[in-house]
Amino acid sequence: MSAATVIEGCAIATVDAAGTEHRDGHLVIEDGRIVAVGEGLAPAAPPGVRRIDGRGMLATPGLVNCHHHLYQWATRGLAQQATLFEWLVELYPVWAHVDDEIEWAAARAGLAALARSGSSTTTDHHYVFPAGVGDLLEVEVKAAASIGVRFHPCRGSMDLGRSDGGLPPDEIVEDRDAILAASEDAVARFHDPSPGAMVRVALAPCSPFSVTSELMAETAQLARRLGVRLHTHLAETLDEEEFCRERFGVRPVQYLEDLGWLGDDVWLAHCVHISDDEIAQFGATGTGVAHCPSSNARLGAGIAPVAALTRAGAPVGLGVDGAASNESGALSVEVREALLVARIAGGPAAMTAREALALATIHGARCLGRADEIGSLEAGKLADVALWRLDSLDHAGIEDPVAALVLGRPQAVDTLLVGGRAVVESGELRTADVETVAADIARQSRRLLERAPA
Ligand SMILES: [Zn+2]
Repeated sequence: MSAATVIEGCAIATVDAAGTEHRDGHLVIEDGRIVAVGEGLAPAAPPGVRRIDGRGMLATPGLVNCHHHLYQWATRGLAQQATLFEWLVELYPVWAHVDDEIEWAAARAGLAALARSGSSTTTDHHYVFPAGVGDLLEVEVKAAASIGVRFHPCRGSMDLGRSDGGLPPDEIVEDRDAILAASEDAVARFHDPSPGAMVRVALAPCSPFSVTSELMAETAQLARRLGVRLHTHLAETLDEEEFCRERFGVRPVQYLEDLGWLGDDVWLAHCVHISDDEIAQFGATGTGVAHCPSSNARLGAGIAPVAALTRAGAPVGLGVDGAASNESGALSVEVREALLVARIAGGPAAMTAREALALATIHGARCLGRADEIGSLEAGKLADVALWRLDSLDHAGIEDPVAALVLGRPQAVDTLLVGGRAVVESGELRTADVETVAADIARQSRRLLERAPA
């Protein structure tokens, strides 16, 4: 499709390296890429061009979600007062009953919610593969294609069951050799290294308390041989820190370093409980962090030292985390949460509205290894664009459009383009019927709870 699109009349926050913004600007898109962005009207466009009236709106890069567990959309609202370990122990036996139909409904619901919250690219960390059901990673790759977002699924894994000292029940851990074979197979089938890719795969053992050291080390070797990225959970809670001290004799970051897991091809979810020395290590190695403020708040895990990490030079993106620990699942909410929790911890100067937007865009793109293609609005980059309406009651009268977006009421996006294709238009998801998606996940959530032990 070579049709051009012109967007005019909107404020633009490009989130480029210079922080360029336009009060009343234009974007021109051709063949799925941005060819021009600037102040005023677009240069003369050929007849037949698609025009989007941006008046009253702010254009930003499409948001990049760096941590999620889509299947958890089927288990929202459970274990409401639990710590992470209590929450996991309650939910693992339920998750053991996830099948293809539940995965499809949950992934579609989670991805629809993300798209409506302005997220054009998302990762997913899928680590529950019950025996005897279909290929759940393939199901979510198809779900992402149906919703139309750029997708970085992580082939997750667990191989340390309770009988070996891990947290998950033995029934939902896999054999290490089977995991490594399935990981290699997932990369062969779904990973697209070419420019503009809609699907890229990463490898992602789940956490220190559900994965053996051997699997961690061998997964890192495999990912580097295949040229894909690495992801896991780290330093989310003090319970995890205690687990690492007891089992491995070191803190979580030292544990990862010993296994070859710090580097600019790695991004880690949470990193709440890390020391000043560890923050410096993240900066020096370029190790990325997926900050999940709502999930950390919901589970009472603590507040990640985001300002210190970014000062150290570490890429810090935002993640909604699984919807079982963040029922909203909306990335626009996390932008505001990131700013608010940073300020609770560090005072009002701890994070600006523009810094919060950069976490959700260019720094998220760095975490996923896509900063050359997404995360900012610049000529040559992919046309992943979010248009936010700022002239309604919620935001009208706020002179600074970035402040309106970040400090104001989190909202659904008006228009979301992914590679120039409209996934959301006039606030409506164009790629799926949201009422059908909602009815489907309601039915499948109920079915899952009926299948699971009481
Ligand atoms: Zn997570």
